[in-house]
Amino acid sequence: MTDCLFCKIVAGQIPTQMVFTDDQVVVFKDIHPKARVHLLVVPRTHIASLDELQSGHDGLVAHMMRLLPTLAKSQGLQDGFRTIINTGPGGGQEIAHLHIHLVGGGLLPGL
Ligand code: AMP
Ligand code: ZN
Repeated sequence: MTDCLFCKIVAGQIPTQMVFTDDQVVVFKDIHPKARVHLLVVPRTHIASLDELQSGHDGLVAHMMRLLPTLAKSQGLQDGFRTIINTGPGGGQEIAHLHIHLVGGGLLPGL
């Protein structure tokens, strides 16, 4: 996807505060953090949203989920964290490339 901001970040064309990369994902700091820690976990492959997931993505999804507690602890979030996935306009999704928000540090408002 040439016109996708997160694809450009994956390709290294836009600088970010990268905190982790592997062959399947990149993880960087949100540019407008909503808490002391606010990371975005982004698959390298372009998937627009949860609506676009297919069975072939199952391994990737499991990998992203299992990465979350490790990332949280690496950011000093020893006692817990919040994850958010916005989907579509009704979910407030601004960037149409699947991503998991990992948020924590300080008191978070209840949902
Ligand atoms: P969403 O509303 O779930 O699509 O979230 C998109 C997130 O991407 C927002 O929290 C933005 O602050 C964040 N964001 C937008 N542009 C950048 C960027 N260049 N680097 C890091 N985070 C960004
Ligand atoms: Zn993309």
